Amino acid sequence: MNSDFPIPTLRPGSAGLQIEDVPLAAIAERFGTPTYVYSRAALEQAFDAYRDALAGRRALVCYAVKANSNLGVLAVFAKLGAGFDIVSGGELSRVLAAGGDPGKVVFSGVGKSAGEMRQALAAGIRCFNVESEAELERLDMLAGELGTRAPIALRVNPDVDPKTHPYISTGLKNNKFGVAFDTALALYRRAAGMANVRISGIACHIGSQLLDSGPIAEAAEKVLGLVDELAAEGIHLDHIDLGGGLGIRYRDEAPPSVAAYLAPLLRLLDGRSEELCFEPGRSLIGNAGLLLTRIEYLKPGAERNFAIVDAAMNDLARPALYDAYHEAVAVAPRDVPERNYEIVGPICESGDFLAHDRPLAVAAGDLVALLSAGAYGMAMSSNYNTRPRAAEVIVDGSRMHLVRQRETVESLYALESPLP
Ligand SMILES: *Cc1c(COP(=O)(O)O)cnc(C)c1O
Repeated sequence: MNSDFPIPTLRPGSAGLQIEDVPLAAIAERFGTPTYVYSRAALEQAFDAYRDALAGRRALVCYAVKANSNLGVLAVFAKLGAGFDIVSGGELSRVLAAGGDPGKVVFSGVGKSAGEMRQALAAGIRCFNVESEAELERLDMLAGELGTRAPIALRVNPDVDPKTHPYISTGLKNNKFGVAFDTALALYRRAAGMANVRISGIACHIGSQLLDSGPIAEAAEKVLGLVDELAAEGIHLDHIDLGGGLGIRYRDEAPPSVAAYLAPLLRLLDGRSEELCFEPGRSLIGNAGLLLTRIEYLKPGAERNFAIVDAAMNDLARPALYDAYHEAVAVAPRDVPERNYEIVGPICESGDFLAHDRPLAVAAGDLVALLSAGAYGMAMSSNYNTRPRAAEVIVDGSRMHLVRQRETVESLYALESPLP
């Protein structure tokens, strides 16, 4: 059996695949399927890779909450001393509920509402990553009303091509993120004149699932040039935030290690005093998680065989949305010939597939694990077709913690009412 899984803590055991010391079959038995399963040890290993690579330098790793916002996951990172990159007031509430430190929270996003800004100012977050002049003006006004000063960084758009999927590329001139690079200087000058903002740093984030550090190093060089221009005008920044984006292996991608990804950036920043921040999401959680599902039916066909499973595109949208690849493995392969299957869910859409043309030695009723599903899996799930969302479990050694109960159908329409 192939034990070269992208999930470092997944391995074959006597009762089929296990994550850490817990057989996946035991999780299915106890909590049902579909269920998202995360490994605490894998989360910690991923975080330690950043911590080790940044050792000896003033640095803050802010987990990008949108990748997976489960309170259990956030609590693991909070205990490790992580900061958090949030994109909504809702995410701020989650971070606080999980015991995260508001003083290590950075707030990204192009559309922060007045309510979200007030909430974040009251919580005392570390920094607002401001993405437009209008946002800066609103923040200055609201901070003034609250009698406080808002710490800010401008998120600049360095106009480099991250060479990734167009939907997850964010650093090109023609997309909605950040302020155009050549207008940043003028906007910093404006911010410096505002009574209720305090300039703290500069930020950029060029895209996701980056498979080499060339583009981010190019962006960093541009950003450093701007930092020096600002310093020459007496505007001194305390931190440089280079965003998230490091990719992971789903299939046969060969992303650099965290250390190799950061090496050229650390070289560029060598000898500089600014604190260095990162906002990784996928690379901290993607390969710490899987989606466990059970085969309802096998449906052989003339051209294609279907394995119809109890998870669907509402649980894991990435295949339908980006044509993304997730490794699909039988939890306990049988002694039958392998066949190639289309792995599909029960939803009434042809786009409802989880994997194409995968060899599996399975029978109806067997468990299948879709790997590398920790990031943008549960976080992007929905209730389409009135399907209760999956349960979530964190495995820690030989223990399993249910960190989100499976939704009940009643809860899905609890806020609705028929007409009288
Ligand atoms: C999505 C996002 C991240 C995290 O990206 P990953 O590819 O998951 O590491 C970080 N910062 C910002 C501003 C984002 O929008």
